[in-house]
Amino acid sequence: MKIKLFIVLVLLINNANAQDYSKIHQKAILVDTHNDFLTKVMQYNFALDSDLRGKTHSDLTRFKIGGLDVQFFSVWSDGNQQSPYAFANRQIDSLDAVIKRNPDKIVKTANVKEILGVVKQNKIAALIGIEGGHQIENSLDNLDALYNRGTRYMTLTWNNSTDWATSAFDDNSKPEFKGKGLSDFGKKVVRHMNKIGMLVDVSHVNEKTFWDVIETTSKPIIASHSSVYKLCPVPRNLKDDQIKAIAKNNGVVQINFNSGFIDPTEKKREEAFMESHKKEFDSLHVAIKNENIAEEMIHVKYKQESDSLRAPFALVIEHIEYVIKLVGVDYVGIGSDFDGIVLPPQQLDDVTSYPLITKALLEKGYSEKDINKILGGNILRVLKANEVN
Ligand SMILES: [Zn+2]
Repeated sequence: MKIKLFIVLVLLINNANAQDYSKIHQKAILVDTHNDFLTKVMQYNFALDSDLRGKTHSDLTRFKIGGLDVQFFSVWSDGNQQSPYAFANRQIDSLDAVIKRNPDKIVKTANVKEILGVVKQNKIAALIGIEGGHQIENSLDNLDALYNRGTRYMTLTWNNSTDWATSAFDDNSKPEFKGKGLSDFGKKVVRHMNKIGMLVDVSHVNEKTFWDVIETTSKPIIASHSSVYKLCPVPRNLKDDQIKAIAKNNGVVQINFNSGFIDPTEKKREEAFMESHKKEFDSLHVAIKNENIAEEMIHVKYKQESDSLRAPFALVIEHIEYVIKLVGVDYVGIGSDFDGIVLPPQQLDDVTSYPLITKALLEKGYSEKDINKILGGNILRVLKANEVN
């Protein structure tokens, strides 16, 4: 009898949790620090305010369904455009046009006070993250101009280095970049970012650049979309001593959802998949002249096969928990990389799937207070700490 009662109670509690999670999720301020939708705009001319189901991970309607409140839109460049600065401005123009058309749904925000005001009105707060560093074209004036257009963080490199900062990818693949960090100008960039209130983002940089940043910055930093090296040893993930240094700096690690960054078995499986479609990929690559788009087309064509490569959802939670166990609940958040990745984890199909994270964290026993920190409180603290007036 007692056992039966216990089972009934457990079932009741589980059911209550299931109902609670969406309430807790919708109530929390959810901040995602990395979404590459604007790159998709440059490639395919998609509009964020149209129905893009089946085409992208994101659109305005789906952001709302997923309970997203604050989005940092990534403005990416690999430096190969005629003017990366002009390319950045075109991406920002495209976001501004969406915002102008939808003032009742999405608003550009400059600081935490404005963010909280916009979220209170049930609208999405938009900010910009410059990814790559090439966009400033080695000019602090350009950095200021991008700040004035709503940029609140800059990722110092992408996979390729700038003249003044070194990427993890280059460090691991090109001997001339091995162990190279920030140049004197790079340190000047970091200090200038501190001065104007722009967050320094260390996702993509190599270890020497990371430690140079830690030594140079006077403000808390972020990794806008990086996961844990110990769980998935890819060069752009963060090692334990780096995670500890970010916590000591009072910054935050925003976990990347990309299957290849959270699941150590994914790379081999994906390589085998691409190898089996190599002929088709090669001819697409020649025809389109864009490696990323050609690769994406292979994934779309062989969707079932491609889906089987996706990491188990539980791994996202494992990466979040790893950071919590290492340094505490105040230093972790979400930087999904949606629309910049081909293979999100299973179940995390698109931006409507964020509530599953809240559900999983609740099931793990985290309190609403801790979940609020992970979903957005931590990054808002760091943003506030970087504000200058
Ligand atoms: Zn990136």
